[in-house]
Amino acid sequence: MIHLARKNIQNLKPYSSARHEFKGTAKVYLDANESPFNNGMNRYPDPMQWKVKKPLAGIKGVQPENIFLGNGSDEPIDLLMRIFCEPGIDNIITLPPTYGMYQVSADINNVAIKKVNLTTDYQLDVENILAAADEHSKILFICSPNNPTGNSVDRDDIETLIQGFKGIVVIDEAYIDFSSEESCVEFINQYPNVVVLQTFSKAWGMANIRLGQAYANTEMIDLLNKVKPPYNISELTQKAALLAFKHRNKVRESVATILRERSRVEDNLSRYDFVKEVYPSDANFILAKVEKPNRLYDFLVSKGIIVRNRSTVTLCEGCLRFTIGQPKENDLLIEALKEWKNTN
Ligand SMILES: *Cc1c(COP(=O)(O)O)cnc(C)c1O
Repeated sequence: MIHLARKNIQNLKPYSSARHEFKGTAKVYLDANESPFNNGMNRYPDPMQWKVKKPLAGIKGVQPENIFLGNGSDEPIDLLMRIFCEPGIDNIITLPPTYGMYQVSADINNVAIKKVNLTTDYQLDVENILAAADEHSKILFICSPNNPTGNSVDRDDIETLIQGFKGIVVIDEAYIDFSSEESCVEFINQYPNVVVLQTFSKAWGMANIRLGQAYANTEMIDLLNKVKPPYNISELTQKAALLAFKHRNKVRESVATILRERSRVEDNLSRYDFVKEVYPSDANFILAKVEKPNRLYDFLVSKGIIVRNRSTVTLCEGCLRFTIGQPKENDLLIEALKEWKNTN
């Protein structure tokens, strides 16, 4: 994959930090211009975060060397763009309606975007995606389960694209822990052009600590490590992740609750005539097409309930996106919908 990277990245000599050059333990550290006074946070964190990657590798069934950790998964999205896309020359392919950061990151990096809409049932338009790709198409972003539609995309289609697309295929699995489908992580052992993104922001309940993962073959991980800021993951974040690994049953419980609540909200939405369609969800949110989406949105705001108005998004016309909350919060949403029904 290295030959696909920009020349300046291929030739890049990465910053070599003090923690990088001396890896053992010593009596006295006078190498990094840190404060010598121990307050629990005076030392730089491990730039490679091995104490997080080792247990995480066990959980995910990969090797620690196949993991990159970022400041949210938004960081590897940006890094991949900077590694592979020559500004003003190369392009990426996105598949609307999808996650907004691919576009923002491309715009920041002055990378052009080719958009190939999902099909009307929100699946991959494999033929048109491959037809849209040219010699400058460096990255294809596939989001599954997809945000904002909520569905997973067909795994065989993903594999066909991995085999047919000449650049990097990024599979964004931010919502995989809510999904009935298997992760694509195993593809990293078969295909050098695959990067799978996951995050601690959703099912793990830790959006606050900013920790995302990229899984790929070691060549790709080396590239990401070369380009990242040396100490991109703080010690506080690493400690919070380690603590979460100890309480994985809590994560399983909360996912189970969300899935139960998702069916309940789904059933309630389906009940009303003003709801034209409730799209099947594999994530912790539901997309629904409603009559008068803007008025319903404002009504919910007036009740203190904020949902996401996606009614002007391509292929989501008239849709609102409902994140699944705590049971009591969902009760309030369900009550508000009933009130809307009775007054309209
Ligand atoms: C929420 C989300 C992310 C997560 O971003 P973080 O930076 O890890 O918080 C990534 N991709 C998609 C599709 C998302 O919806």
